Amino acid sequence: MATKKPLLVITDFDGTLSLTDVGYEVLLKFSGQGWDDIDRDYCEGRIGSREAYGRIVAILGGTREDMLRFVAENTVVDPHFKEFYAFCREHGIDVKVVSDGLDFYIDFVLRKHGFADIPFYSNVMTFHDGRPLSIEFPHANEACNKCGTCKSNILQASRDRFGKILYVGDGYSDLCPARKADLVFAKGILWTRMAQKKQQGLRKYRTFRDVRDFLSDNGFHPGR
Ligand SMILES: [Mg+2]
Repeated sequence: MATKKPLLVITDFDGTLSLTDVGYEVLLKFSGQGWDDIDRDYCEGRIGSREAYGRIVAILGGTREDMLRFVAENTVVDPHFKEFYAFCREHGIDVKVVSDGLDFYIDFVLRKHGFADIPFYSNVMTFHDGRPLSIEFPHANEACNKCGTCKSNILQASRDRFGKILYVGDGYSDLCPARKADLVFAKGILWTRMAQKKQQGLRKYRTFRDVRDFLSDNGFHPGR
């Protein structure tokens, strides 16, 4: 059996690696009438993100180019992610991004900031003549209707190759995978919800500097 690598970091994208919720901002900006109803149904748990996306794509205006221009102007990446990622590379720690958002802006932001080599798993928006055509779910869990991307499946599929899995996130779609991780760095609603349950291995964080400092202080140094 191949030896396991000591540690994998799995991080959410919107609100986590990117401080801005890029997906939310793009959909809000480019959707026409009907957005409020879809957003309310999703936030109140009446529909999962797959149904929400199916309804949103029908009311989206603008082109891929317009959307990416907006993303370029309105995205703020965690200012400490760069040094965190450099630390991980230096110490042989793998990093993966999981998102219930959309591939076109995640790919754009990762490339723009020099993180093109980080693998990411997300929903996929297709375009025709530069305009949104459909949203597809290559990482869906057919047994569960909630999320477009099943972050838990991606985490579980990595189990046999890594000794420990550290999860970083902020939102509702992180609750399910975070419960399956060995260590969780949480903020926002993820922190609030998990702190209520007193989950083991849970830590509150503000920026990726906190995650790096923790790894540095606690000897997660596979190279040692
Ligand atoms: Mg998030």
